[in-house]
Amino acid sequence: MKPEVELKTLTLTTPFRIAHGASSSRQVVRLCGAGAVAEAPFVPYYDEDVESTVTWLKAGQGPAPSRAAELALDLWRLDLEGQRAGLPLSAQVPSLLPKRLSLIPGCRSFSIPTNLEAFALLVQETARQFQVLKLKLGSGDLAYDGQIVAVARQAAPKAKLLVDVNGGWSMADAAKMIPRLEVFGLELIEQPIHHDGGILAWQELRFMLPRIAIPLYADESAQKAADVPALLGLVEGVNVKLLKCRSFSGAVAMIQAARSHGLGVLLGCMIESSIGITAAAHLAPWADYADLDGHLYLAEDDYQGVTFDPNGCLIMPDAPGLGVRPR
Ligand SMILES: [Mg+2]
Repeated sequence: MKPEVELKTLTLTTPFRIAHGASSSRQVVRLCGAGAVAEAPFVPYYDEDVESTVTWLKAGQGPAPSRAAELALDLWRLDLEGQRAGLPLSAQVPSLLPKRLSLIPGCRSFSIPTNLEAFALLVQETARQFQVLKLKLGSGDLAYDGQIVAVARQAAPKAKLLVDVNGGWSMADAAKMIPRLEVFGLELIEQPIHHDGGILAWQELRFMLPRIAIPLYADESAQKAADVPALLGLVEGVNVKLLKCRSFSGAVAMIQAARSHGLGVLLGCMIESSIGITAAAHLAPWADYADLDGHLYLAEDDYQGVTFDPNGCLIMPDAPGLGVRPR
């Protein structure tokens, strides 16, 4: 059987600003049928064609035209399979991968702020629940980027702070900023330089910063498992997202590739509803950081799945498959 295909526009409560630009709404493609549901997001950065994605999902012929098409169909099939077998999506992960059995702290991300006073209050408020906070940098003003980190550190002295530049710094910017941020005790810095520079750019950065103490993570530079080996010795970890890997098993393969080389894993997401976020959350026990808050920016999240306890830790739904249901 073929699922129903629906294109959905998700509206954000406030625009989300990162180095690539700002978004106030995002599109997702959603599949429903036989009691199973799945979703995959469109991200401006990939420039994927919405129309051919929908056509392919309806007709299902030839190679998938987009990551979103491939991922949505994969997750729908896995939800169906999981429900029939009475097993959660996480049962798809091979048992040989080292798994975290304790509670998993969730992470809240902050878009590049426009007002530092309001930002300080927001960070303070968020840190009452969440132990891990991610700051988006790459504002175009290095001094302001530095202020963002200083303000957040003061507002949340005990929080684990992650920084994500989304490739917003030049090589010279990164060489200047990374040592400057060492004083703030950051957990990691994600994608300080643009992925366009390839592996050579990472090599140059490492050459310029031979003794940097902050772990560097690749996001845009690492799209899939096969990209991991080339980054060895250049980064301490990679950001794994379902959409980048095009399927749940693709994301598992990327985690396996990272672990087999001793690299850290940051599980990431896009702006998407609880359907996509919960699918990704099934991988959280195998990650070092779970940055899965894309659904919390939505004006209306019409599904429910993973939630957070009073300490910001993930609570997975007790249901087979993805485990999500309409609100
Ligand atoms: Mg990132």
